[in-house]
Amino acid sequence: MDIGGLETVVANSAYVSARGSVDANAAATMRDKKMRARLKLPHIKQCEHMKTTVDMVFDSMCVRQPIGKRLFQQYLDSDATHKNACELWKDIEDYNVAQESDRTQKAQKMINKYYDSAAKTFCSFLEEKAITRVKEDFKNIRGDLFKESEQQLLKHLEAKALDSFKNSMYFLRYVQFKWLEGQSVTEEWFMDFRVLGKGGFGEVHACQMRATGKMYANKKLNKKRLKKRKGYEGAIVEKRILAKVHSRFIVTLAYAFQTKLDLCLVMTIMNGGDLRFHIYNVDEKNPGFNEQRACFYTAQIICGLEHLHQHRIVYRDLKPENVLLDDAGHVRLSDLGLAVELPPDKDKTKGYAGTPGFMAPELLQSKEYDYTVDYFTLGVTLYEMIAAKGPFRNRGEKVDNNEVTRRILSDPVSYPDNFGKDCKDICEGLMEKDPMKRLGFKNNTCDELKAQVFFKEINWNRLEAGMLTPPFVPDPKMVYAKDIDDVGAFSTIKGVVMDEKDTEFFNDFASGNIPIPWQEEMIETGVFGELNLWPGNGKLPDDLDPNVTPA
Ligand code: ADP
Ligand code: MG
Ligand code: MG
Repeated sequence: MDIGGLETVVANSAYVSARGSVDANAAATMRDKKMRARLKLPHIKQCEHMKTTVDMVFDSMCVRQPIGKRLFQQYLDSDATHKNACELWKDIEDYNVAQESDRTQKAQKMINKYYDSAAKTFCSFLEEKAITRVKEDFKNIRGDLFKESEQQLLKHLEAKALDSFKNSMYFLRYVQFKWLEGQSVTEEWFMDFRVLGKGGFGEVHACQMRATGKMYANKKLNKKRLKKRKGYEGAIVEKRILAKVHSRFIVTLAYAFQTKLDLCLVMTIMNGGDLRFHIYNVDEKNPGFNEQRACFYTAQIICGLEHLHQHRIVYRDLKPENVLLDDAGHVRLSDLGLAVELPPDKDKTKGYAGTPGFMAPELLQSKEYDYTVDYFTLGVTLYEMIAAKGPFRNRGEKVDNNEVTRRILSDPVSYPDNFGKDCKDICEGLMEKDPMKRLGFKNNTCDELKAQVFFKEINWNRLEAGMLTPPFVPDPKMVYAKDIDDVGAFSTIKGVVMDEKDTEFFNDFASGNIPIPWQEEMIETGVFGELNLWPGNGKLPDDLDPNVTPA
């Protein structure tokens, strides 16, 4: 073996063992004790000033932020007036992700406990209509059986429990965690592993948050290269959009920080490689997927697109290369560098952006467009998954961009024999040249698209809850990335001088921890539980007791 090959083997083995795929406990035991010790809650005196400024909006603090929600539920549990409501809330959540075979039984138990006015634990804040509907409907296994109840429950809690929560020690604990969350992050918190891929402005490495052991991908954007190639706008857009979206079908941004040389985006690590790699490189003699596998990925991509479009974001760069697999074989959209957010007062955008062979006719014709362009690229992507070639290019054919554009604008697509009728129909519906007639995002949802015959086997509720078993599971010992030597080096950048404006931009970019993913990480790795201690005798813990001097 040559030295280069050896380097890859060594780097792969460090990375595979850190991500814990060989030994499930490896990640936790690889925590750095010194860094872990630095994650500690401040004495309440140190963060008291945040009591009035911290995010206290009910929906954000008590529902969407994982730590806020935990603490709110602990408060509810501790108060006899709200205990029932809290139990109903947890039971609803449990029902929503339960296997279908368990649902009817779970629903029956819940009805007896909370929906029967004779029961001790009856929830009187539920409206009559909602109660009747649940009782009538519980045998039809529905993902949204308790949706209405949950809304009423949350409305009730906002009205009756929010104020008392804010006066409780659980809220003080929330303030402490928000203080910790707000501390700045630097490169010393992360340990880099091997390179996973190469982007336009820098490499993407596997990395590990030292204090918790959680693995992430660190996308580095070289500051000089960014400046030289005018990448600031794209970088900040990508960061802003990633920080805003929270979906299991889109990579999540957890941290944004800077080093002397780079801006860094720390995101969900996707160990399974990209779809392009799986279409062409896993079984080279027999490229492409069967319809069932392509259908599963397409369904997950649709959920990602729907989320983006509901947040007024046009993705513009959907293609197999940008769809990444995780350890279990679920996919997420990545690389949002070309995405654009439609402002509240504008429903269309303009501009040439995307990848040749994927871009929609209306975009190529320099017309104004909206989310429709993403459904055209979805059609191209689905076609490529099955045909193992693009719809506007033959295998191995070299065509220039003008010819590809001409074909997209005027040529019909032809389908190899392995396309079934339903699959061909949906490809046609998505690659429809007229954006008005194209399948896509209508009335703020993708319901029409999801109802196409091609998806008849997909249970969308379970898919959206991440509960469907993927058709293919990546090998946990395999590294789905190029050998280190083959990743390719960057040329050196000369003649770039940084000024104050640049520093200002970098500081703006490096905003630190992103609340929801940071809180998820703390919970998932057990750190939240280790920090959130309460004395058993009902007295205040020292860190919340104003009479105890901070350590
Ligand atoms: P660019 O916007 O510069 O093209 P990308 O976001 O596409 O950069 O990242 C470059 C490459 O790094 C990708 O093609 C992929 O191989 C790898 N990569 C990017 N994000 C992740 C991730 N979250 N997990 C694993 N690998 C990733
Ligand atoms: Mg890319
Ligand atoms: Mg990009």
